[in-house]
Amino acid sequence: MGQVKKTTKANTKATTKASTKAAAKVSTKESARATTKASTKSTTKASAKAITKSSGKVTGKTTGKATVKTTSKATVKTTSKATVKTTSKATGGQKSAPGGVSKKGSHKATRQEAAAIMKGLLELYPDACCELTYDSDFQLLTAVILSAQCTDQQVNKVTKALYAEFPDARSLAEADLERVKTLIKPTGYYNAKAKNIQACAQMLVTRFNGKVPTSVEELTTLPGVGRKTANVVLGVIHNIPGWSVDTHVQRLSKRFNFTKEEDPLKIEKDLQALFPGEDWSKLSITIIWHGRRLCYARKPACHNCPINNICPASEA
Ligand code: SF4
Repeated sequence: MGQVKKTTKANTKATTKASTKAAAKVSTKESARATTKASTKSTTKASAKAITKSSGKVTGKTTGKATVKTTSKATVKTTSKATVKTTSKATGGQKSAPGGVSKKGSHKATRQEAAAIMKGLLELYPDACCELTYDSDFQLLTAVILSAQCTDQQVNKVTKALYAEFPDARSLAEADLERVKTLIKPTGYYNAKAKNIQACAQMLVTRFNGKVPTSVEELTTLPGVGRKTANVVLGVIHNIPGWSVDTHVQRLSKRFNFTKEEDPLKIEKDLQALFPGEDWSKLSITIIWHGRRLCYARKPACHNCPINNICPASEA
């Protein structure tokens, strides 16, 4: 009996200790979670506020109905706002903007909403076009490869000298690699880029008789050429419609709720479904122009953006 009592006491003590420990653990975990949540919330609020307050820089100008002017204070003036009408209603009881696209909405855009946003952008940039300088499809292909992580202006400076020495696939295929590296150095990642453009030129010579192929499938077999590059070349040179899902198209497509995807191929499929039968090359370039001129990655210039009344991501 004495033995049983002792065992019971020991068991009770062990159980109490274990429950106290477990309770303490849970409480610590919960309080840590609460602290993290609170801190995340306040950080998010603070950065949202910072973005709202800030105004972006403007580089470049557009012509036509809406004009973006660069001033010393880097503000944007529009002479006429893009007017967009749609009859669709915002869903989920969210705040509705005059254009009918839900403000802060997180639902995937309908075709009607997407069309309204694109209409606004097409009116804002009627002359949007490829800003790379080239004299042939080979030169455009090489310039697009060089444009990764680099501005078109910088690429144009570099290719002027590069094409003066190596104007076609055959000359670049036989070029001294160190010379190519020196010429393209200002575009960044020049070691990899030099190897890629030369390997690309060599494959064009050996497999395609020095000519740039005209299908995405063939183009993407070339070194340094992905779907984005292939679609730019096919769209600009051959007018073959295709989405060029670069960093701007990825970012803005998400801001506009055109897609929820991260993978460029999945984004491309969403965009194809949202804009069936349209000039995807023109739409891509138009979105890229907006990403470069107003809808910046870090501080989009929402207050100066002519489509801020229908943009779901507007902070204006
Ligand atoms: S309102 Fe802001 S987030 Fe929307 S398109 Fe314009 S700049 Fe981009």
